[in-house]
Amino acid sequence: DPRIHGIASSIRVVPNFPKPGIMFQDITTLLLDPQAFKNTVDLFVERYKGKNISVVAGIEARGFIFGPPIALEIGAKFVPLRKPRKLPGEVISEEYVLEYGRDCLEMHIGAVQQGDRALVVDDLVATGGTLCAAINLLERVGADVVECACVIGLPELKSALDG
Ligand code: IMP
Repeated sequence: DPRIHGIASSIRVVPNFPKPGIMFQDITTLLLDPQAFKNTVDLFVERYKGKNISVVAGIEARGFIFGPPIALEIGAKFVPLRKPRKLPGEVISEEYVLEYGRDCLEMHIGAVQQGDRALVVDDLVATGGTLCAAINLLERVGADVVECACVIGLPELKSALDG
């Protein structure tokens, strides 16, 4: 798709952020380019419209940027998957292992129901550990996770989603 090149070239790569050796993919420069931002949302909407998706689950924080415009266009509800102690209501939590240490995602109980058809949205997949935690949360409440949508994939990293 000719739109992919414009999207890719709008993403800034920042070496040694947040620590030495990391090449940080910065989507804030994509957001400065309205055409690239619109094309990004449109590509996902074209893929998911008509697929009967009832919930878009966005991962904190950059899944909150791309998830809601997709949800509005495909007619799905939006549910934020947040870092611990951010959601005021009753939550379920899923811990996951990072390269160094652990992290956790939480979701409001009742936001997603048995039989919901879910799309998970984030900016970037590296190992897939974050997406796996999101999938687990949604499946624990009986949702069917149709697919995960990320703007950037880092193919050089071995994925936790393999097998
Ligand atoms: P994973 O769990 O290893 O797949 O890492 C993906 C998570 O880390 C996502 O929530 C991303 O937002 C975040 N992340 C990792 N590397 C980058 C980066 O270079 N730019 C932006 N986010 C990143």
